[in-house]
Amino acid sequence: MPATSLSTHLKHWSKRLESCSDSARLDAEILLKHVSGLSDAQLIMRDNEPLDNATIQRINALVASREQGSPIGYLTGWREFYGLNLKVNPQVLIPRPETELLVDTALKLIQPIAKPEILDMGTGSGAIALAIASNTISARLTATDLNKKALLVATENAQFHHIHNITFLHSDWYTNLKGAQFDLIVSNPPYIDPDDPHLRQGDVRFEPEQALISADHGCADIKTIIEHASAYLKAGGWIALEHGYNQGAFTRDLLKHQGFTDSETLKDLNQHDRVTLGKWSSRQ
Ligand code: GLN
Repeated sequence: MPATSLSTHLKHWSKRLESCSDSARLDAEILLKHVSGLSDAQLIMRDNEPLDNATIQRINALVASREQGSPIGYLTGWREFYGLNLKVNPQVLIPRPETELLVDTALKLIQPIAKPEILDMGTGSGAIALAIASNTISARLTATDLNKKALLVATENAQFHHIHNITFLHSDWYTNLKGAQFDLIVSNPPYIDPDDPHLRQGDVRFEPEQALISADHGCADIKTIIEHASAYLKAGGWIALEHGYNQGAFTRDLLKHQGFTDSETLKDLNQHDRVTLGKWSSRQ
């Protein structure tokens, strides 16, 4: 009997994953590439060839974990964000495609500034800071997190990509920033209501609660960040925050109430309110 071909294995794994994933085929391909080291092109070229037993067994084990709900990013230890391959582990949120909007926004806001100074709070894997830093050589960034184990992941990602213009700092929001002033503050803070039923579904079940959940219906951390932001912004500086699809008006109102101008909410690729920005002109 001829050995089972790569393409037959792939079909089988992707069939198994259909019950737990809406990207079953892609998941199966990612796991196969991760274990075998094969490229996309090689997957096509070798689709009639057999796979060795060790590879098959390792993939079977990963498929079984995926069936239990483990996110693909944690199974492979990697996730692509803004063209960068980033290490991830259960200490950090897996970067979302929606968050690329925050990076696009940040890059537009700092574009006119010669040597922009940027603060990224709650950096997690470092995704936002690294994406900004790798696109703006002249920028100087400070990236904070409350979780020291997350900072370790972010630091490894910076080293992996040879990005040297980010200072990583352990801080509970602004507490360790000591009078620093920035041209731009960005953050993707926790913003999910602790009672949101989505927390019991899909990948988020495996992600750190500290990075997802915020008190006060998901609003507490957005509030803390905005209420203290002006002390850490230069005159003419900007703040841009990611938030939930239903938190745009709340975030704009909070910014206006704190004396920010030019407040605006931007929609992500799914047409959901996702990022709100505001400008700090100076105290009237
Ligand atoms: N956007 C993420 C989600 O919906 C949450 C990210 C966050 O809380 N900062 O799962």
